[in-house]
Amino acid sequence: MALVPMRLLLDHALKNKYAVGAYNVNNMEQIQAIMAAARETRTPVIVQASRGALKYSNFIYLKKLMEAAAIDNPDIPIAMHLDHGNSLDTCKKAIELGFTSVMIDGSLKEDSKTPTTYEENLDVTLSVIEYARPLGVTVEAELGTLGGIEDGVGSGQVHLNDPDQAVKFVRKTKVDALAVAIGTSHGAYKFKAGQAQEIRLDILREIERRIPGFPIVLHGSSSIPEEAVAQINRYGGRLKDSAGIPEAQLREAARSAVCKINIDSDGRLVMTAKIREIFALKPEEFDPRKYLGPAREALLAMYIRKNREVLGSAGRAPEIIAALDAERS
Ligand SMILES: [Zn+2]
Repeated sequence: MALVPMRLLLDHALKNKYAVGAYNVNNMEQIQAIMAAARETRTPVIVQASRGALKYSNFIYLKKLMEAAAIDNPDIPIAMHLDHGNSLDTCKKAIELGFTSVMIDGSLKEDSKTPTTYEENLDVTLSVIEYARPLGVTVEAELGTLGGIEDGVGSGQVHLNDPDQAVKFVRKTKVDALAVAIGTSHGAYKFKAGQAQEIRLDILREIERRIPGFPIVLHGSSSIPEEAVAQINRYGGRLKDSAGIPEAQLREAARSAVCKINIDSDGRLVMTAKIREIFALKPEEFDPRKYLGPAREALLAMYIRKNREVLGSAGRAPEIIAALDAERS
């Protein structure tokens, strides 16, 4: 099994100018789709669980599913990552569960809604690094405020990063990776349909220029595929029209210092679209495998596409595994 600290994947991505997909998981079908796509495209992958997902699965079930993914795929380097940890205690708990990486989102208070001051963010981030680093666990922090709300995380406000502050924060904390607010947004309702969305690549470039070789993370980077939203609404759903982050922009970001791109909503939409379609077209069906199975297939196709066409991470797993083997022997 190749469970690795996330930093190892980020460094490889940074050096080779691609980004690793960080895909959120809640259940078995999602994990299986992510891993099947990783096998098919020979891609390193970050499987991440939010606090909400861990709670939903009573912690142990999701932990064991993530471990199963690693055992079942010895040729795929995997990081097990906590998404949006809200306190040192939450991060400790994830590390005790065997996570190889944690995010401490010190941009918000423990309620995950109220923005913090820079000093408060600095303090909680340092406390997590002090605990995690001796254990070889990667730490991701966040600075600035993303728009949108997902899984109860988000203030609903937007506050883009100030490059000066980002540089200061990274130097002071020596954190492994930093999530920045440069125009991406959490959730399925990021922007109104038709509204042009731009990631602020200028802010990104400025941060990259000032702290070269440092891994940047983009949250809220689903593209909200129109066809999935249309499919949901065609079969009885009622989603508002919405727009996400154009994949062309993600592709460009992936070639820069951005080495982890978080994608959650796209998976939720694709899965729901397929299940709704089956419920509508085969109302006699009641075997969960007959709708969760096809939903898993639809997810698989989406993850393959992301790895190959958006992130540039396809084909990178063998080099990482070879380097790990060389180190061990
Ligand atoms: Zn996030």
